[in-house]
Amino acid sequence: MNSSFLEELEAIPLLDNHCHPFEVTTTPRNLESYLNNFTEAHGVESHIKASKSIFVRRLMRKIATVLQSIVGGDGFIGADGRIDYEKVIAAREEIGDFYLAKRLFEKGNIRSLVIDTGYPPANRAVDLETMADATSTKYRTLLRIETHIEALFSEVDNYDELVDHFDADLTDLRKGGYSGLKSIAGYRGGLNIASNHDRQEVIAGFKELKDLQNRGEKVRLSNRPLLETLLYRGLSHASRQNLPVQFHVGYGDHDVDLASANPNSLRNLLEDESLAGANFVLLHNCWPFFREGAFLAAIYPNAYIDLSFGIPFLSIDEMEQVAKAIIGTTPSNHIVYSSDGVRLPEIFYLSAIDARAIVGDLFSRMVSRGEVGEQDCLEVATEIFFENAWKLYGFDE
Ligand SMILES: [Zn+2]
Repeated sequence: MNSSFLEELEAIPLLDNHCHPFEVTTTPRNLESYLNNFTEAHGVESHIKASKSIFVRRLMRKIATVLQSIVGGDGFIGADGRIDYEKVIAAREEIGDFYLAKRLFEKGNIRSLVIDTGYPPANRAVDLETMADATSTKYRTLLRIETHIEALFSEVDNYDELVDHFDADLTDLRKGGYSGLKSIAGYRGGLNIASNHDRQEVIAGFKELKDLQNRGEKVRLSNRPLLETLLYRGLSHASRQNLPVQFHVGYGDHDVDLASANPNSLRNLLEDESLAGANFVLLHNCWPFFREGAFLAAIYPNAYIDLSFGIPFLSIDEMEQVAKAIIGTTPSNHIVYSSDGVRLPEIFYLSAIDARAIVGDLFSRMVSRGEVGEQDCLEVATEIFFENAWKLYGFDE
């Protein structure tokens, strides 16, 4: 493959279709708090588990190199070739998230973002305009359904009031500043979503959570009849407005039960004619069900698969398997790139450079065996990295 093709690949501006705000910090991060950003493990050992992953070893090596180019010197890599994590973290804290982000986004050629504002919580998330200014990016936002419903609980006394508020907020999402919805039902009991729950059961679900709230507990939308009924209602709003809906599928935080997070469970929704106006984006490569996810996006007109190179935290080899399966199965107009970057700019950057390298390698092999031409590769890369998401989330509107 000639070098001008690889340069053209580098020049495609990335549109990251699934990411989150950076995090506000009040004290400098230390080794433990920094590493905890790169694992879904919980408990006292989580940062140690993070440090033992191939993902973190790769990340620290890459960030050490970038920091060397910014601050100079070679103090980040020891004589034995090991990265000095403490020094890397101290240097990046000194530079600050926004300046580091500016440099990393330039290097990764990351130009547009679709941001889920449901995490980190608003009081720990940076202002989006500030984040966009610092990184010179254009952005769109998504409304996270479950978090939004949980927040509404403190404003209502009964189920009907909750529905009224919910409908009012979702009736014109574009006007409210949103380009689509996002659901974490996968982290609240799974992806089987029924629309025919008995009203009394749903109201009982509301009361159960309201009672907990009245006793001072935090509302967590885990009652399934209530969650599924409101989620389905939200999907109907999205469908009527021809807006996309992202679903967390497979890999996720420690609440996920992988047995109920298989993308096959979403077939009911994909086949539901009353939801035909909504496009469904299956996040996180559906890992470890990436072949199932690739298949669904290949056959359903309203299914897209998210090709994420940041989270799940995988090695390059495993990401290659994922990219091979998805690009090798799903038509290129139904694949969208992301990092799932959250809290720190590092994940956005690592994902961007890994994505180009992995996809570039994959294409080189396809071209050298005569399977496709360079123009095919450029077309596919442009669609995945930029064009599909640009259309899907209405960046032109
Ligand atoms: Zn996410």
